[in-house]
Parts: sequence; C-alpha cells; structure tokens
Amino acid sequence: MALKYTRMPLNRYSKERKDSDWLCQRFVDEAARFVVVQSGRNLFDKNLQPVYLERRDIASVELKNTIFLGIGDRGPVFAVDSVFLSEAERELAETEYCFEDLRKVGPTLTFSDAAVLAFGKGLIHWHSTHRFCGRCGCKNESIEAGHSRLCQRQECQHRTFPRTDPAVIMIVEHTFADGVTRCLLGRQKSWPDGVYSTLAGFVDPGESLEETVVREVKEEAGIDVTEVKYLASQPWPFPSSIMLGFTAKALSAEIQVDLDELDDAKWFTREELSQQGEWGDKGPGFKKTRSDSISRFLVESWQAAG
Ligand SMILES: [Zn+2]
Repeated sequence: MALKYTRMPLNRYSKERKDSDWLCQRFVDEAARFVVVQSGRNLFDKNLQPVYLERRDIASVELKNTIFLGIGDRGPVFAVDSVFLSEAERELAETEYCFEDLRKVGPTLTFSDAAVLAFGKGLIHWHSTHRFCGRCGCKNESIEAGHSRLCQRQECQHRTFPRTDPAVIMIVEHTFADGVTRCLLGRQKSWPDGVYSTLAGFVDPGESLEETVVREVKEEAGIDVTEVKYLASQPWPFPSSIMLGFTAKALSAEIQVDLDELDDAKWFTREELSQQGEWGDKGPGFKKTRSDSISRFLVESWQAAG
C-alpha cells in the first residue's frame, strides 16, 4: 500500500538548477511543460486529468516567475502561479480547463501526477506567503529556480527557504478487559457526518516527534500513550505540511474529549471499521477518511495487522 503524493517521478536536479544557463536550457526545451496553480488550486481538464501546458500557452511568463520542479520521462516540468499569466492566457486556461482542489481530485490521479501537482502547489503557496523578507520586511525575490528567496535590500540579503510544517498523526490501540483490541479515532466538527479519523497535531518547537504524539493524544482525548513507533510519512501540501505517521499503545481506555479540539472520539474494533462507509457517502453510519490520506493508510494498516 503506497501513500498518495509520494513516489515523485521527477529528478529534481537540486545542484544543476542553481546554474542559470542550465536552467534556461530546460526552460526553452520544447518538451518543457508547465503546471499552473491559482489560489491553491491546480489546473485540470474537463475529465479532471492534470493539464501540462506548453510554453507557448504561457508565452508571457518569464523564467524568473516559474519554479523548476524537475525532469521526468517526458522532459522538464515547471510550476507557475496564474498571477504571472497574461489576462488572455489566464482567461484561456479558465475557459478550456478548470482549477480544482487537489484534495478533491487526488484520489483518482496516478501517483506520478499527484506527486508533481502536490510539489508545485506546495512551492507556489510558499512563494505567495513569503513575498517579503521575514527579517527586515523589504521585498524579496525568487532565486535558484524558485527554491529560495532573497531579500533585495543590499544591507540585508536574508535568504529564505521553503518550509514544511511537521505534523504527527497516530493510530492508538488498546486491548480492553473483554480481550478485544480497539483503536482510537476522533472527529472534527467541520468534517462530513460520521467521519472519524486518527488524531493528529503540529509539532511544537523544542519537541521530539514522539513527545508530540504523547502530548496530542493526552490533550485531545485525555489518554496516556506509550510505545510510540514511527510508521510512514506523507507530504500534505494543504497548505504546507508533512504528516508523520505513528503507532502507539494506550495505557487506559477512558476518553475525555477536549471539545475545543475535537467534536468526539471513540474506540473502534476492526470489525466496526470494516463496516464503515466511504468519505462522501450520504446517509447514517460511520465513514472512513479520505482515501488519499495517511490517516486511511494508518487505519487500514492497523486493520490488516489484526
Ligand atoms: Zn531583508
């Protein structure tokens, strides 16, 4: 079982992309393709397949306003924010295609396309939220193929690099007095009715990942955990996280939900999980989380281990 948004098919050429001549050659390559992002949404055709534009489709866009993602079997791939397209180019993209939330389309995409679109979306979000120097507040500009930004004030020249916010996500199990092992899932108010997912939370500065797991489960559900073990990770550019998946064992069963964080939390047996409906299903009953999420991966891995 693999996680969506992993398995990047492009070679990032992290060293070569810093060479402006090398980069320019990739940009003018006829095989070069461009993925466009508008307000956090990726560009898809009417069948919700990703659109890779040619350079002539976005002829007004300068190299400095693109982000080099890498080179795949079919050539170089760049990402571009639709704000850099001319009005006519943007209008054409909006009329012929559509901008959609990757979370909505992700489950049906190939692993390759999902990884490329997530990478482009993540970097464009970072650029759009780091337009000014964090140290002096002056304008900074994209450099090194879009993988860094440099403050334009001569006396400052502070460099900023893309950020990823680490978040832990964990499946907690407990063997009850009846001999049955159950896992702990919670739900947030904003989710569709019936959806329960693994608990999760952001890592604080000065905290190890294992400490975050222990703290989050205690804060959200009032349960102490032990035997925290890393399982897998997933880039989650919604807007800028990496999800680090763990397993843990609960020391007690009594749940005390923090209503500021969760709507509810419950213990589920493997059998109960197997009867859950799909995310998006209407009607009563419990539902699974998104099929492209690491939460689903953690739950299904736990089910399979029983
Ligand atoms: Zn500065």
